[in-house]
Amino acid sequence: MQDSFGREIDYLRVSVTDRCNFRCIYCMPEDGYPVAPKSELLTFEEIARVVHLCADMGTTKVRITGGEPLIRKDLPELVSQIRSHSGICDISATTNAHLLAQNAQKLKSAGLNRINISLDTLDEQKFATIARRGSIRTVLEGIEAAQQAGLEPIKINCVLMKGVNDDELVDFARWTLRAPIHVRFIELMPIRWNLDETDSFTSLSELSGGRGLFQLRISQDEGMLSDSQMRRMFVPFEQAKRTIENEFGKLIPFDLPTNGPAHTYKIEKAEGSIGFISQISADLCARCNRIRLTADGQLRPCLMSDGELDLRTPMRTGATNDELKQLIRHVILHKPERHYLADGQKVMGRGMSQIGG
Ligand code: SAM
Ligand code: SF4
Repeated sequence: MQDSFGREIDYLRVSVTDRCNFRCIYCMPEDGYPVAPKSELLTFEEIARVVHLCADMGTTKVRITGGEPLIRKDLPELVSQIRSHSGICDISATTNAHLLAQNAQKLKSAGLNRINISLDTLDEQKFATIARRGSIRTVLEGIEAAQQAGLEPIKINCVLMKGVNDDELVDFARWTLRAPIHVRFIELMPIRWNLDETDSFTSLSELSGGRGLFQLRISQDEGMLSDSQMRRMFVPFEQAKRTIENEFGKLIPFDLPTNGPAHTYKIEKAEGSIGFISQISADLCARCNRIRLTADGQLRPCLMSDGELDLRTPMRTGATNDELKQLIRHVILHKPERHYLADGQKVMGRGMSQIGG
């Protein structure tokens, strides 16, 4: 179905949990956010009901996300429930891959088409400083398992941060030369605008007993980067692209059918590709085709705006499919034309792991 600005809304992102086994410094505080009680999380049947109603209204693509989606027990069961609607032609997932090695084949068998894996560094020590849980070894094992299971194309989501991992651009690019890996550099988004620099900050390398490889200052209260730090760590994509081109020569524009909003390129003769995704620049809004279902059953028309509509309560108090479709239509018709971050808009409500990135 089309929204009020003529955009075809055919993509639903489904968060299955707000919990996570990592604590990425740009996403979650060290102690995590308060989590929704289990009783408030949608059951698989409730999620599948919403997905199927959206599919009746034109949704063809679904991405399962979180929090960390693989924390949710029996996730393949949800994939097969979603798959049972003939209108859904593409099911993907975004994961930190910590639990992927043991789940990749089961997910594929249940009907998952492909997977995005978040990995911001290829350096073990930096990994410990950024993700603060897990290990790079389990992530790499997860990637290998996904390849073996045929969950392709495999995309690597790498959030680019000046002074943290921008020195690894060439290493990530080199990876695409020898493997069918599609690296997507993602712009750092100051999604929780509740931290400011009047808070007291502690150096992360102090916190990690001096093992940190770089100076990162983390809010003592919130245990994550502040929004102004995130803004300062911004790396313009033209600059990132130039760094890669200086090493490998001019990048060739490359079209992958599942590209989404990324601007994608290839190094000549590479097996994989390199893409840049800039959610902050408002030009993406004109092509935005998605809405989001949070793990606690709120339907959200825009990542960067706090507005959302409760579907869980109506579902649990006997709403009919037609009534639910009216609510879904309402959300789509109230999808904002664009975000207004440049005009001072702030996203105050949920963090990224609570929305479903
Ligand atoms: N836990 C899973 C994972 O990390 O892949 C799925 C959920 S996570 C919220 C989805 C994506 O959002 C990840 O690729 C992560 O890097 C990205 N993300 C989280 N916070 C972000 C931020 N402040 N700016 C840019 N990307 C962010
Ligand atoms: Fe967890 Fe993903 Fe957020 Fe990292 S980005 S803390 S893995 S939800």
